[in-house]
Amino acid sequence: NQQILLDHRPQGAVTADCFRMIETPIGQPESAEILVRNHWLSLDPYMRGRISGEKSYAQGVDPGQLMVGGTVGQVIASASGRFKEGDWVLSASGWQTHALLPEKQALKLDPDGGVPLSAYLGVIGMPGITAWVGLMTICEPKAGETVVVDAASGAVGSVVGQLAKGEGCRVVGIAGGPDKCRYVVDELGFDLCLDHRAADFVEQLDRAVPQGVDCVFENVGGAIFEELLARMNPFGRIALCGMVSEINGSLHTYTRMRSILVNRLKLQGFIVSDHMKLWPEIREQLRTRVASGQIRYRESIVEGLTNAPQALVGLFEGRNFGKQLVKLV
Ligand code: NDP
Repeated sequence: NQQILLDHRPQGAVTADCFRMIETPIGQPESAEILVRNHWLSLDPYMRGRISGEKSYAQGVDPGQLMVGGTVGQVIASASGRFKEGDWVLSASGWQTHALLPEKQALKLDPDGGVPLSAYLGVIGMPGITAWVGLMTICEPKAGETVVVDAASGAVGSVVGQLAKGEGCRVVGIAGGPDKCRYVVDELGFDLCLDHRAADFVEQLDRAVPQGVDCVFENVGGAIFEELLARMNPFGRIALCGMVSEINGSLHTYTRMRSILVNRLKLQGFIVSDHMKLWPEIREQLRTRVASGQIRYRESIVEGLTNAPQALVGLFEGRNFGKQLVKLV
């Protein structure tokens, strides 16, 4: 069994040498356990938080421990009445090729559900559900309103924009570079997408939201979030989902905060795992829409567990284009 452990905590930006690979024996399942061969590992921005050593909403990873992560795999041995060899499962088994799991920690997947199984880590998995929870329960978008989402081509942002279009909103995406922006408009159907790396980004934003912004689904934080705050309409709503641009550093979000007061904005942070009761229903809603082609998505795939650290680093440099996955088989 190949495993990747946290070797040491990053100082500032995470680098691939923060991790190390080890080889361990593959165990055999005992009562109510299954042995899973992982096929897909999900890489997500939250992983930077888990290795920081700072107190947060979830248990962190200490040096010497297995890196956490969502996985999709196939049962290769079972001592559980609920699973048999050949079943496909979703679990949080971490950065490893094989996992010995208590049956309670695995969710059986239907390989004939009309979506590829890797989608359970992205568009119909934790990131897609995050999009739904933040948009529908916090932004509560109404037809005709202007919704802005950043990291728009990514796992979460791509779903946010497509759902908001479905609610009849005018949707403006923000993404890094012309290729991502073209994809966001041409493939995902957003009304507009602005390149945050463009020299005239701020002027473009002014032109893109002449009526101001009613809903922001915030994934990036930092300077982009400040520009959005300054353009909020009265009684706007902001779902504060993530601040990926600040994840390697410190906060800079104070100067435009006055907008929250004078415009009586509703800004709410949220953690998708607080809403576990909603997951099955949301996942099913997303699965139907993905299977019918109504919601589209894109994956960035690297092959082999050894490439996971470098691909994680890439998330914080915008090197991924869509949901970042590691293909293990
Ligand atoms: P993405 O697939 O969107 O990948 C991350 C993207 O962030 C990059 O591709 C890049 O896109 C953008 N980015 C990275 N660094 C910067 C930077 N310095 N400035 C601007 N953009 C940057 O990731 P996810 O969809 O998985 O996650 C999106 C956000 O949602 C993250 O903030 C994450 O932490 C958050 N999240 C929150 C959850 C919750 O429960 N609250 C649950 C899941 C995710 P580009 O090239 O377009 O700039």
